[in-house]
Amino acid sequence: MKIAFYGTKPYDKIWFEPMAKDYGFEIRFIELPCNEETVFLAKGYDAICIFVNDYVNAKMIDQLYEMKVKAILLRSAGFNHVDVKAAEEKIVILRVPSYSPEAVAEFAMSLLLTVNRHTNRAYNRTRDFNMSLNGLMGNDLNHKVAGVVGTGKIGQAMIRILNGFQMQVLAYDPYPVKGLEAEYVSVEELMSKSDVISLHCPLTSDTEHIINRDTIGMMKNGVYLINTSRGALIDTDALIDGLLQKKFAGVGLDVYEEEEGIFYEDRSGEIIEDENLARLVTFPNVLITSHMGFFTTEAMQAIATETLENAYALENGLPMVNRVGVEAVV
Ligand code: NAD
Repeated sequence: MKIAFYGTKPYDKIWFEPMAKDYGFEIRFIELPCNEETVFLAKGYDAICIFVNDYVNAKMIDQLYEMKVKAILLRSAGFNHVDVKAAEEKIVILRVPSYSPEAVAEFAMSLLLTVNRHTNRAYNRTRDFNMSLNGLMGNDLNHKVAGVVGTGKIGQAMIRILNGFQMQVLAYDPYPVKGLEAEYVSVEELMSKSDVISLHCPLTSDTEHIINRDTIGMMKNGVYLINTSRGALIDTDALIDGLLQKKFAGVGLDVYEEEEGIFYEDRSGEIIEDENLARLVTFPNVLITSHMGFFTTEAMQAIATETLENAYALENGLPMVNRVGVEAVV
């Protein structure tokens, strides 16, 4: 199988290059992202392999189909960046549904701990021998209320961590899971009773802007909001207004609505045109990271293994257990 691998970073090659050889796959590593301008590079390949800030829309599906590309191999669990309906009966989509839920949940907790105890700011101060504690006071988490939106694999891992901090956990998910150490409540109750809100649901038409002016209005003053899921779960304009109204004690964002084309790249020498992003980084109680919740050795190895297993199943007519069908988006 010949695979066009878009959005290649040096750390992708560490795992994919040797493993692909073992499978007998030929991979062309392309640094460019997959988009309307670069899709033509897939000509002559059996599959394309893409990550979260690549996209494949309906027009590109038709182009790939004409080029006889058989599969889209997602190096991610989320599939909101591919037009699944347009791909039906044309191109197989295979994803990596679970590589290390703990990696993302642990990262969500690290964002919470950092924005709460300001260790990011303390680090910068002490390097400059500014040993003042002014402005660095946090809050105990012990016995506070945490609200988890989405209790799938990552949400459940987050609940276990929050339980370890002896927090009371509220949860919202349209498909509740039995046996969790959390109490399922309505979205409204979760928003209004939580001291910490952590988002772990996928981006769908139902969850887009689940954090909006209304839900922010329901939240307690001094709430912490953590998003390691997808940027568009939060209406950024509403978030900025909430921050200006001093609603939030801290906000940790690993994802951002308009992250495509900005995250994963070094833009340090450039003028940032995205005014919302530029505004967000100026708040002392906002911590932004570049969609890196997944980024552990264990998760990267698992992503490579599962992606190539998916390709192997396709090539050999084996059951494609990680196929994303149209039923996933209706
Ligand atoms: P999952 O499919 O195991 O769980 C998602 C859960 O969300 C399910 O229980 C589902 O019922 C629930 N859900 C669906 N609609 C909902 C709604 N309207 N309100 C509340 N809950 C809803 O997925 P997962 O592996 O736990 O991953 C969750 C998300 O995390 C992914 O969709 C992806 O966007 C994100 N993610 C981020 C990173 C990162 O690096 N930051 C890495 C992996 C995944």
